[in-house]
Amino acid sequence: MRTPYAYARRASRTVATIGHDHVPRVIANLADQTISRMEDLAAIGHVYDPTTDKWAMRDQAAEFLYMGSSPLPFMAPTGTRQLLDVPTWTAHSDQFYCVPVFSIDTYLQATARHAVMNVVRCTCDQLTADIVQQLAPDSTVVLLLSSTAPSYYTSMRATIDTCTDLGLLAPIVLEREVRAAAIDACVLYASTDLGGLLVDGLGDGTMLGVGTSDHADLQQSIRLAFTILQATRTRMTKTEYISCPSCGRTQFDLQETTARIRSHTDHLKGVKIGIMGCIVNGPGEMADADYGYVGSGPDRITLYRGQDIVQRNIPSDGAVDSLIDIIKSDDRWVEPLTHP
Ligand code: SF4
Repeated sequence: MRTPYAYARRASRTVATIGHDHVPRVIANLADQTISRMEDLAAIGHVYDPTTDKWAMRDQAAEFLYMGSSPLPFMAPTGTRQLLDVPTWTAHSDQFYCVPVFSIDTYLQATARHAVMNVVRCTCDQLTADIVQQLAPDSTVVLLLSSTAPSYYTSMRATIDTCTDLGLLAPIVLEREVRAAAIDACVLYASTDLGGLLVDGLGDGTMLGVGTSDHADLQQSIRLAFTILQATRTRMTKTEYISCPSCGRTQFDLQETTARIRSHTDHLKGVKIGIMGCIVNGPGEMADADYGYVGSGPDRITLYRGQDIVQRNIPSDGAVDSLIDIIKSDDRWVEPLTHP
């Protein structure tokens, strides 16, 4: 029985690179997108450089590409695998690096399956106890699970709990499609649904599509998936910021300064930066930050490494550059990846 007072990830087995102690994986749903050029994959974190004929993978790049019935017209980026609907996979020349996606019926009737990984895509209402018991012994199954119930979160949570009670160890990837008139609404719904499950330790990956029209916005979808994983602390892929709410003591424009620091540093995976409005309470409020940018007077900033002051009362002009220099001197700086 799961306790609400402690985090524990649902037990699952490793299938290929999904499940058990692997970080939650991100699947890009490209099935209804037009992908004709290598450059089209930059939106999901894979950047092709034609001069070197090489792919670069961003920290926030999808590892699996769900292509439905339209395989990529070129070789998949290094480190990725295509997921193909089973009739397309059956006809494909590379049945090892591509992975079949079954429905429950096609899985049960299949005469050929992948030796390592078979994705079974289904909804909560299709996953009866009888089906779970038929899937449980297969150590190659990954469930790609979604729900059409009015409450996605409660439906998914109840179904995953039932799977656990029935001994299913297959990794479960959370599939969610959200369409709304405004992208902010998509962010809200997707975050509460997926985030709620992930903080409960449920989910070995996500396949998220958000958008304001029929087609998902690819870039937004992948970014949001990684942001939700970061916020639930299940997968850290970018800089984390701790900033105070601001009050009468605040010595600078907190929003503008945070945006400026973020624009220079948000590619630094695993670094925590505290941005605090005053030196009276700021250092205490950023206790677990790696670096601190703290207002210590009008147009004056004090920079911290952990809880230690590194530069005191320096002019705010150039303070962001000084912060970057400190990060560089600690060998924690990397140059941001840019489009070729
Ligand atoms: S750190 Fe200082 S400026 Fe920020 S909320 Fe606390 S007291 Fe106010």
